Amino acid sequence: MEDCLFCKINQGDIPSEKVYDGEDVFAIEDINPQAPVHLLIIPKKHFSTLLEIEESDFQLIGSIFGVANQLAAERKIDQSGFRVVGNCGAGAGQSVFHIHYHLLGGRAMKWPPG
Ligand code: AMP
Ligand code: ZN
Repeated sequence: MEDCLFCKINQGDIPSEKVYDGEDVFAIEDINPQAPVHLLIIPKKHFSTLLEIEESDFQLIGSIFGVANQLAAERKIDQSGFRVVGNCGAGAGQSVFHIHYHLLGGRAMKWPPG
């Protein structure tokens, strides 16, 4: 999609190192990390918000959690604990309208989140 930050990063129009690059999903370091490990796991298909996910996308979306487990193990936060977060809509803090899941770890997490 035109004028979408994560579509442009995926296509290489905006430089950003992919720390994971699969067929349907890629991951990058968050530019403003909120924890020692803060990655963004992003489907290559453009969805503006989580509300656009349909049943035919369930396999793709499920694969994101496999990538999260793999990256958590690589970054050695799998045993200490990590969080996978998807913000849906501006009210939940979504600022980039191409869906992504934050993978956060490497420090103690509080609940409820702010
Ligand atoms: P959200 O607020 O849930 O939509 O998350 C968007 C995330 O994208 C934020 O954590 C930003 O720090 C991050 N972000 C924005 N621009 C970039 C970029 N160019 N490269 C990597 N992360 C980015
Ligand atoms: Zn996009």
